[in-house]
Amino acid sequence: MEEPDIINNLEKTLSTFKNPDCRLVAVSKTKPISILEQAYAAGIRDFGENKVQEMTEKADQLPKDIRWHMIGHLQRNKVKYIAPYVHLIHSVDSLRLLKQIDKEGKKVERIIPCLLQVHIAKEETKYGWDEKELMDFLSGEEIKTMKNIHIAGLMGMATNTDNLETIRNEFKGLSQLFDKLKSMVLPEQVQLKELSMGMSADYLIAQDEGSTMVRIGSAIFGARNYN
Ligand SMILES: *Cc1c(COP(=O)(O)O)cnc(C)c1O
Repeated sequence: MEEPDIINNLEKTLSTFKNPDCRLVAVSKTKPISILEQAYAAGIRDFGENKVQEMTEKADQLPKDIRWHMIGHLQRNKVKYIAPYVHLIHSVDSLRLLKQIDKEGKKVERIIPCLLQVHIAKEETKYGWDEKELMDFLSGEEIKTMKNIHIAGLMGMATNTDNLETIRNEFKGLSQLFDKLKSMVLPEQVQLKELSMGMSADYLIAQDEGSTMVRIGSAIFGARNYN
């Protein structure tokens, strides 16, 4: 496969941003270390990965000032491997997983930053909380007992479709939920600052709708080939 021109792709992508304060997480899943090193040299410090083993192997080999973002579905029995170093877990899709993160955070004496992944897409396979579950959990008692997690915001993925209206409506809905939750009285573990939405194909729509963090892979690193 052809080598991506990372510096050029990065510049191009950033130049289209509708909100310059929106943070870029460079999604480097499946890409080799040499490619991540090029992105690092170009100034990238936030990398997103979706597999625990791959992220941990990369973290071991790359500079320690990198902020590692877990963006993929996370199995509870693997939380322990990333608990010592992960910067932000975007993909907290259930209470059971959050409890496990709290437990592993306690073992390594960290408060682990998390985003709650909200189910906004039409697809049945996408993981996440629905609005009622979120409301009940955030206003309930259980969360107050969780001392080793910090809930920094929400994450969502739109339906994989060419219909831009569908995508926009899903992002709008998530953004409205975010604002609604922010207006509630919430426990100290919850400080809703980040709205992680938008990928290569839809980050401009996401920024229109209030995204604070976009997770961009192929627009920077080129297409992925899964072998
Ligand atoms: C792969 C992935 C991305 C990046 O996708 P691109 O279309 O390559 O930008 C973003 N978010 C999640 C959760 C992903 O798994």
